[in-house]
Order: sequence, then C-alpha cells, then structure tokens
Amino acid sequence: MRIVKIEPIPVAYPEPNDFNAERYLCLVKITTDDGIVGWGESITQFKEANAATAALINGLAEFVIGKDPLDNGAIWRAIKERYWWYGYRGGLAAYALSAIDIALWDIKGKALNTSLLQLLGGAVHEKLPVIASGHAHDESIPKMADQAQEWLSTGMQGMKVGFGKRGNAHLGYEHDRDVEYVKQMRNAIGPDKMLMIDMGYAIKWDVATAVKRVQAFDEYNIDWIEEPLGAWDPEGYRTLRDKTKCLIAYGEREWNVDGFDQILATGTCDVFGIDPGRAEGVTGFVKAVARIESHRRQANAHAWSSAIVSAASLAVSFSSLAFKLFEFKPLRNPMQHELVSEPFEQKDGWIYPPSDKPGLGIEINEDVVNRYRQNF
Ligand SMILES: [Mg+2]
Repeated sequence: MRIVKIEPIPVAYPEPNDFNAERYLCLVKITTDDGIVGWGESITQFKEANAATAALINGLAEFVIGKDPLDNGAIWRAIKERYWWYGYRGGLAAYALSAIDIALWDIKGKALNTSLLQLLGGAVHEKLPVIASGHAHDESIPKMADQAQEWLSTGMQGMKVGFGKRGNAHLGYEHDRDVEYVKQMRNAIGPDKMLMIDMGYAIKWDVATAVKRVQAFDEYNIDWIEEPLGAWDPEGYRTLRDKTKCLIAYGEREWNVDGFDQILATGTCDVFGIDPGRAEGVTGFVKAVARIESHRRQANAHAWSSAIVSAASLAVSFSSLAFKLFEFKPLRNPMQHELVSEPFEQKDGWIYPPSDKPGLGIEINEDVVNRYRQNF
C-alpha cells in the first residue's frame, strides 16, 4: 500500500462558542493507492497561519507520497528531520506535521481494521467525566450563571469558563466582578460540579494580581486555574502554586515533547493542556503524555476545534491514566456537529471509549468540508 495523494484543505467557519467569530483550521486528506482515505487537522486558528500551514503541507508532500502509511512513525521522524531549521521548538511546521500524522494514524487503523484506541493499546478508563468548556459572553452575571446551569442540566459534570474572550462579559479585568462571577457560578451549579477558570490570551495579570484573584476564587472551590500567567513563567507559577489551593493548568501552547519537558522540570504545572492538532499529532501527543504520566501529573486534551481532533484526543485520553476528564463545547457548532455523520455526544455527564470503528472512527461529510473550504 502506498500513499498517492495529500491535499491540505484550509477551512474557515463561524464558531458559536466563540461569539460566532470566524475561526480557521487546516484539514488534510491523504489517500492511498487502494482508496483508503485518512483525515487530519491542525488548529491554526488564524487565517495567515492557515495559509502558511497549507503551503507547508504541500511542501512536505515528498515525504509522504509513495510511502507505506503503516510506516507512519518513520514518516513522522523524516518530517521532523526535514524541518530542523524552520521548525526548531515548533511553530507552523508542527501544525503541518500534526495534520499529516493524525491522517496517517487514521489510514493505519483503516488498513488494519483497528481503531486508533486499540492501536494505542486499548482503554484504561471505563468512562470519563465530561465538562462543558465555554466562553463567558454576556454582560449580566446572573444570565451567565443561568446559562451554565442550563448547560449542566444535560448531566455534564462541570464547567470550564474562558475569561478575556469576545463579547460583553468583561471577565478577567476587575477583581470584584471576577469574584462575584465565580461566586454566582458556584451557587448556580452547586457544590458538586467541577468549576475551572481559563485565562484567555487577552488577560495579562502580574503575579501579585494572580495570587490575589486566585486566592479569592479558592473561597468558592474552583478546581483549576488555567494559564493565569500565560505560557511560560516558572517563577510566577511557583509563587502562585505555593499560595493557592486549586490546581494550576497550562501547557496548551507547547509544540512538542521538549516544551512539555521544560514545564515538567519546573514542577509548577498540575494539569497539562495538550492538542494533537498542534503538538505533532497523535505521535507527539502520545510521547508528551508518557512524560506527563511518569511525572504523575494530569493531562487534558485541548479538543476545542473539529471532530477530527476530538476523535484523536478521545483515543489518547482513554489510553492513559493521566487523563481525568474530557471537554465538550457546550453549543452546537459546524466542525463538531456537521463535519461528521455521527457527532460525539456525552451521556449523562460521561463519555465512553470510542467505538471499534477503524482509525479515527469518524465519517467525514465532504460536502461540509467543501462548504467551509477556503480558496486562495
Ligand atoms: Mg485553555
């Protein structure tokens, strides 16, 4: 079996969970000589990154075309060797590799009639709790608390809220408003549901602000605070972790195992966000998770894009004890609910191991791909 075609497909789509902002993903479709098709994705988010990633995938085609897709590890390595110069420490090169690698795992599973989860060794969890991972958009705190209550009435076991996002919520900027929000959210969802607060890129707290704010949030038993000091601040995170109770979560901006190793060495991160559409695909994801698991830290899939990354994330999440939950976007959206014929659904707050369907176990609606496809 040989790979005969690789096609990057940059898409742009409105995301209801992000105040209907247009968001970007670069999908990839890889085809073999016996007609097997694999799908991959990189979570580029911005249009210029999408265009550049599509160009990189086209440029890397020579490392994929003509190869046996069962040699996916060797292909992954050959691409890493190629981009030693322009992909040192990651960057857009890692997006290209991520998409290609996910698609190759999909093909491998289909060729061997085996699910990705089985290729990774099978499920070590019977089920995982599902939380809603949304952004706060509304000006009214009671309204946002009501909305969270409504989302969790589906059975979901907690809520992660992004601060500093689009819309009118204005969270992350004022101590009193933030604390009032967390208080009302805790009251609305009750003491038993998980509550996580995720600082968006727009929020630029200094260390003292972070300590004061998180100490106040701790009064309402938040489960974790995510990226309160950005992607890299070992000293700040050390101070914050020493002075607060909740778990510290970051890492989602890392590109590869070296980046995760650097954070692990600081001992300041409890929950590592990680995305196969960014961190060198399923292969990179699994390598990083092995390190996180051996350091007895929690890993958490940053699956906030399409059902392709969700399928890959779900398989890895079920294959490792480092994972404790899975995130769902609360509102229906095109890349989860239109892109695949059977969208992922939680049942009474739980997600179960993916079916035995081969590869990623999803069926892509190509008319939907074409509807959102960007043409340059
Ligand atoms: Mg996050």
